[in-house]
Amino acid sequence: MAGLVAAVRARELGAEPLVLEKGDRAGGSMLLSSGVIWRHRTLEDFRAECPGGDPALQRMIVEGLDEALDWLQSLGAPVIEPETGNPRTSGVRFDTRELTKALVSRARNVSLGHVPASDTEPRPEGPIVLATGGFHVRLAREWGLPVRGNAWSEGDGLDLALARGGETAGDLYEFYGRAMPAGIPIDEAEFVPLSQLYGRFAEVVSEDGGQRFEGEPQWSEIDLVQTIGRWPGGRAWYRVHEDDLGQRVRERTVADMIELARAAGAVVREEPPFTSVLVQASVTQTLGGILIDTRARVVGAERLYAAGADVGGIATGGYSSGLAAALVFGRIAAEEALS
Ligand SMILES: Cc1cc2nc3c(=O)[nH]c(=O)nc-3n(C[C@H](O)[C@H](O)[C@H](O)COP(=O)(O)OP(=O)(O)OC[C@H]3O[C@@H](n4cnc5c(N)ncnc54)[C@H](O)[C@@H]3O)c2cc1C
Repeated sequence: MAGLVAAVRARELGAEPLVLEKGDRAGGSMLLSSGVIWRHRTLEDFRAECPGGDPALQRMIVEGLDEALDWLQSLGAPVIEPETGNPRTSGVRFDTRELTKALVSRARNVSLGHVPASDTEPRPEGPIVLATGGFHVRLAREWGLPVRGNAWSEGDGLDLALARGGETAGDLYEFYGRAMPAGIPIDEAEFVPLSQLYGRFAEVVSEDGGQRFEGEPQWSEIDLVQTIGRWPGGRAWYRVHEDDLGQRVRERTVADMIELARAAGAVVREEPPFTSVLVQASVTQTLGGILIDTRARVVGAERLYAAGADVGGIATGGYSSGLAAALVFGRIAAEEALS
């Protein structure tokens, strides 16, 4: 997302950007996402929820997102819901397929299947905006967890920034992810529908029964997923009492989510009055990454900019919209690179 946004903005400003995309399609994790681009309602809310994040970067998102969303719509990307459906947040939902199409057609020069060069090989002239989507693939592999995001983000942007004198920000082991049914193959089209979002209504114990999640998870359940990710196999049982099967999480009930998981082949145990589902923490995005300033400049490196999940230290300690960070800092990176 961030790379396409930067390219579209750069073209608007009169430049001729080239987008080098590693994957065999454009759109990255954005294409697979729910497409809800959102912000906390106030900076104070953002601070309270992500207390370890950089307040200056958080402010840029809170203050810049609404205008950036208008800009995105002006490109012809259709909004399919005018609100997030979450009273804590403000934003809109896009059709990600149409959004990708709109961005690619305006970015124009998008080269797919790009193989990352080593830092010593010649690169195209001019400033570089790093937007490789963080390093969730690498983190998932190291932790033995499934990937729930694009298949290409290995941390090439972070490596390049560090090789050029950049620094890291945030906790490099912190990630955003979801509990997904364990032990079954999950196609990327199922990443959203098969997410098991009812940890707050469940008793959560590790697969071997040795550990238990105490207390109430955050609304995004990011803390719960990170905890499960550190348990053996990254697995847990979500044990739900029948009285809670009717609880709603956004538009679905707990029972809806369990039935979808069961139909996909998930391990579901019935021990009335409880239903238990075996889940596994899956990694969508890393939250630590490159240190930038509020103009998306990589601190410590010359003519290098970063945006999106390559940037660290925005959501540290909590959860914020990765799409919003990609949109806001993708635009700023292009503007700054051309100033
Ligand atoms: C199932 C799912 C649901 C989600 N729902 C939401 C949501 O509703 N709201 C929200 O805010 N966020 C959501 N997210 C997260 C959101 O998709 C990401 O935060 C966002 O896409 C990050 O933008 P990005 O540009 O940094 O990364 P991406 O969109 O992933 O783009 C990075 C691109 O870089 C490419 N790349 C990697 N390495 C290289 C390299 N060396 N050279 C060239 N290209 C490279 C990748 O192939 C990819 O195309 C969701 C994610 C998933 C997977």
